[in-house]
Parts: sequence; structure tokens; C-alpha cells
Amino acid sequence: MIHPVAAFERIGEENAFAVLARATQLSAEGKDIINLGIGQPDFKTPEHIVEAAIKALRDGHHGYTPAAGLLETREAVCRRTLAMTGVEVSPDSVMIMPGGKPTMYSAIRMLGEPGTDILYPDPGFPIYRSMIEHVGANPVPVPVREENGFAFSAEETLSLITPQTRLLILNSPANPTGGVTPKSEIDRLVSGLADHPHVVILSDEIYDVMTYDGERHTSLLTYPEIRDRLIVLNGWSKTWAMTGWRMGWSIWPDDLIGYVRKLAVNCWSCVNAPSQFAGIAAIDGPQDSVNDMLAAFDRRRTLVTDRLNTLPGISCVLPKGAFYAFPNISGTGWKAKPLASALLEKAGVALIGGPDFGILGEGYIRVSCANSEANIDAAITRLGEFLEAEKG
Ligand code: PLP
Repeated sequence: MIHPVAAFERIGEENAFAVLARATQLSAEGKDIINLGIGQPDFKTPEHIVEAAIKALRDGHHGYTPAAGLLETREAVCRRTLAMTGVEVSPDSVMIMPGGKPTMYSAIRMLGEPGTDILYPDPGFPIYRSMIEHVGANPVPVPVREENGFAFSAEETLSLITPQTRLLILNSPANPTGGVTPKSEIDRLVSGLADHPHVVILSDEIYDVMTYDGERHTSLLTYPEIRDRLIVLNGWSKTWAMTGWRMGWSIWPDDLIGYVRKLAVNCWSCVNAPSQFAGIAAIDGPQDSVNDMLAAFDRRRTLVTDRLNTLPGISCVLPKGAFYAFPNISGTGWKAKPLASALLEKAGVALIGGPDFGILGEGYIRVSCANSEANIDAAITRLGEFLEAEKG
């Protein structure tokens, strides 16, 4: 019997992948499954982006690129950052990463060790906590509350900072709640952070474009006073429907960029070149497909929320961002994970139990809007029928 070092006993999972595998297996067995578990857009990568990758390969771009990414791709990220936030960023601060997750890992690896605290949102993306535990740091959940519209609270976040805190992870618009933290709250947080200059901030802004009802995303980059200790995570996965391309970017402070470049050289060398050309086309090309996708998500989040709110025992806050709804199911008498699992096995509806996103996720389920309106409608009908049948 061989076994890895203890750190590998402390790696968690992203249960959405397990649910996807089970849903796929049930479908292959001929069951009629509606998948509202998935965290990736149900749209194809726009054609001009695909063409750019094919052209890059035909043009012979098959080799290594610099570890930080092609200068042209990093410059495209700078153009996009300026357009979205009004902030000028140097390509020297940008890393092209194989997806959003490697930025998470790099930041947590760089700042976490036994004896340090890392603050992360709960409920939140499960990989934050998993990686914090893996590196042996102390995970400190920052509650994200329904009564606050699933925005994080500056006051509560600041109250959790200790002299041991090395990293604070923020995520807005948020997975799994769809919460968007208003600028006023971020203003308060940043002004409070002046008293804690030892804390580095990792702002996960991968859903930055996905806000609704005129709500605007506030990038942490717009606060020059924390720029020297801010890491911004972003990427192509969600905005341009490119999850499988493994294309992300991050913006790093001067003191840390050299270390992440070295980590890249050691771990993955670089992101594949054709994807990086595709990434440029995504940023510089027409955005109609992005806008069409956002319009579809907007319609679906209203549909999901309206339909869920008609079911006894369920109440759902209208998500302000991303493409998830996070209904409160505590009135049904079900615990979230048994409900999610029974729904998949008995009613053919895949979704994720709230506890897969943290301790405070109990009493909630995550419903992804990455499916057609007809399928969403049918899935919620099944959910209602299931709850009714189980009652009787
Ligand atoms: N950050 C958040 C909040 C996410 O929801 C996800 C994916 O679901 C990621 C990062 C990871 O993105 P990627 O697939 O590009 O690694």
C-alpha cells in the first residue's frame, strides 16, 4: 500500500463534476435527465473564436509560448480590462493561465501555510476551501447571507481579519448564489482594509460581465490604494463559453508576478498557443454572441425564480449576477443534499445541494440556468411534482 503525503488527504472535490458524471451515466442508460447542475454555458464557443484557433494551428503556432502567455494575448487582456474597468494595466502584470482555477491555486499556494488564516466566501466556489486545506492554512469562512441579497458584508469580513490573515478571497458576481456585492459595500471594505496592510486580496471576477437589471460589477482594480496587494482572477470560460479550452487570466501585484511566472514554468510551462490566439479573437471580435447569451440568462433567471417561488416550502431571491439561482428549500422539510440526490435518481433533475458550496449552504440548492427555458420549466415542474408526491 502506498499513499501520498498528508496534504493530499486534505484535497476536496467539486461535486458539480460528480453530479455531471452521474447525470451522464443515467442519460446513457436511457433515463430522461434535465441537467441544471452544470456550471458552464450551454452555448457553443462563437465561430470566429474557433476559427482563430484553427488558423493559429495552420499558421504553425504549435510551440511553447512565454510562461506568462503571448504578449499579444496579455495586451488583449489589458484592452479588455481598460474597457470594463477604466483601469490601465501593464501586460507585465498579466498571466495567461490554463483556466480560472490555476490562479486560485497559485495565490493560495503562495500565501497559505500552517499558521496562516485565509478568508473565503461561504457559500462559495468549493475549490477555495479545498486548496486552503491542502496547503495547510486555516480556512475562515466569510458568511454570504440571503438576507443581504447574497452580497458579502464589509463589516463582517473585516471583523474576521486577524494578524494571521494572509489572504482574503472575494467573489462577485458569485457562484453559487448569483449575488452581486454593491459598490458601496466594496468601498467600505477597501477603506477598512487600510488598517490591515498585511492582507492580500484575491478577487475572483470571472462572472464580471454577467449582471442584470442595470446592476454593474465593481472591479477591485478600481481601488488604486490596494493595487499593490491585489490579485484579480478572470478568464474566458464563462463569458465566451470556453470552459473546455482552459483559458484564464490573472492580474498580479509587482511583488508576486515573478513568483507566479516561476510556478507556471514549473507546473504547466504555458497555455497552448492556439487557445491564446482564440482568446485574442474573443476579446477583440464581435460580442453579439456574448450579448445573446446574457439575454438568454436574463430571461431564464426570471423564469427560474418565478417558477420556484410558486412551490410550497421554497423561496428564491432573484439572482443579480452569474447564471445561478440559489433557492432556500428549508421550508420543504428536506435537507439539501438528500433532496439533490433524490431528485436526480427519482425525478431526473440534476442540480447541486448547497452544502457542496460550504457549511452555510445547508437549506439551499443551486440551480444553474445553463439549459433551455423549456427544460428549466420542465425541471421545476418535476421538482414540484416530486415534492408533492413525497409529501403524500
Ligand atoms: N471561479 C468561479 C467563481 C467559478 O464559478 C469557476 C467555475 O465554475 C471558476 C472560478 C473556474 O473557472 P475555470 O473553469 O476557468 O477554471
